[in-house]
This record gives sequence, structure tokens and C-alpha cells, in this order.
Amino acid sequence: MFFSPRPQEKDFQKISPHLTVRVSERARRLSLRLDQKNRNVCLIIPQRASIRKAYEFAYQNKKWIESKINTLPAPLPFEHGGEIPILGCMYKIHIDTDTTRRTTDCTLKDGILHVVTNKQDPTLRITRFLKSVAAENFLIMAREKAGLISATVHNVTVRDMSTRWGSCGPDGNMSLNWRLIFAPATAIDYVISHEVAHLIHHNHGPRFWKLCAELSKDFSTGSHWMRDHGHTLMRYGERTHQVPLEE
Ligand SMILES: [Zn+2]
Repeated sequence: MFFSPRPQEKDFQKISPHLTVRVSERARRLSLRLDQKNRNVCLIIPQRASIRKAYEFAYQNKKWIESKINTLPAPLPFEHGGEIPILGCMYKIHIDTDTTRRTTDCTLKDGILHVVTNKQDPTLRITRFLKSVAAENFLIMAREKAGLISATVHNVTVRDMSTRWGSCGPDGNMSLNWRLIFAPATAIDYVISHEVAHLIHHNHGPRFWKLCAELSKDFSTGSHWMRDHGHTLMRYGERTHQVPLEE
């Protein structure tokens, strides 16, 4: 097989259709990383590594790649008739398609996520709506908790992070993963308590954990749920697709 100096995604995808490739300046060694959000395994190649070695490494780990992909929970697309948890309550998805409309409207009422849309696939519109619901509710929750310890949350930004649930700077600006909206109430409460506790303690020391537990409604249930099931939040709304090679 011929190898160009840059890795070609299509060559690596002969090993597995779930394999993507990234050249990294910082990486010191070849590694494979499961990307739960995009449902693929990324081969990280240090900039100076040989592409042939990288290919051999991925080839030797072919079985591992497939087994990792097989452990991922099945995707739960936003489809008519489907059910999704939103802020700890189950909602049935009801989609009305109306091609004469110009926009998509989403509402949450009486256990139904009602979507009226002109789109063949309104996934992105539903995602946008759920992000706005997440942003609004997470801000209220974070401010309420911060108020208990006389701290201030200025802003909550919801993001589509693939490996983190949240972060919080000493300036009171918090980022939360929008997919937390699909988690049980105790788990959301724990993650927000965790980030609020970082307003006081910028580390994960004993005093941080004590405050985090005090702020949480049910620290043990929430933190264990995130540890054991957090990765399952990535399956909502995703359609299986290949991401383009990032360089
Ligand atoms: Zn932390």
C-alpha cells in the first residue's frame, strides 16, 4: 500500500469504518481514543511518527476498535414517537411536518415535546431548542446554589463538549455540557454543585469535595450516576455519521 506523507482517512478506514485519524503536535506516542459523541475511535499520531507505523499500530488493534464501538449504547435519534428524558422527566416526541411553514417550533408541555417543522430531519432544530432549555434552566440552578454560599455565577454557557461535563472559572463564568439535560435530576444537580463548588475551591481537594457534597441534593447518587452512566448521554439525537478528518 502506498502512503502519502499525510495520513489519508480512507486508507485507515479500510482497517475500520469507525477509525478516524488526527495528527497531534503534543502527542508523544501513538494512541487510540474512543470518541463516544461521534461514535468512532480516533488514532492519534504524533507529528513525527511514521505513517506506516501508525497504520500497523491501528491494524494490530483492529479487534479492540470494533469491540469498543460495540460497547457504545445504541443511538436514540429524535424521532416521532420516540421518548427522551428532559431535566429528569420523560417526554414523548411528537413531530408534525408542515412544508408550508418557514420555521420550526418546539414546545414542552404535558409530557410531550411537540415539534412543528418544515424540515425533513429536524434534529438540528430540536437540538437548538433543547440547548436553549438547558441554558435557561442550568443558569437558574447554578445561581440558586451559588446564592447558598454567597458566590456569584455571571453566566452559564452550554456547549457540545465530547469529554467534559462542565468547567467553571473564578470569574463566575460556567460552561456546562448541554447533554446533561438528558441526565436524571440528581445527576444534573451534582454536576452543577460541582461547578459551583469550584467558585470557592479551584482544585479537587478534600475541602472542595466537602462543599460539593453539601451543595448536592444527593451527592452519592448523582456522582455515581455520572461516573457509571454519564457516557450514555452522548447517544441522544446523534445520527451515525463519519466526521471529516481534522488536521
Ligand atoms: Zn472539578
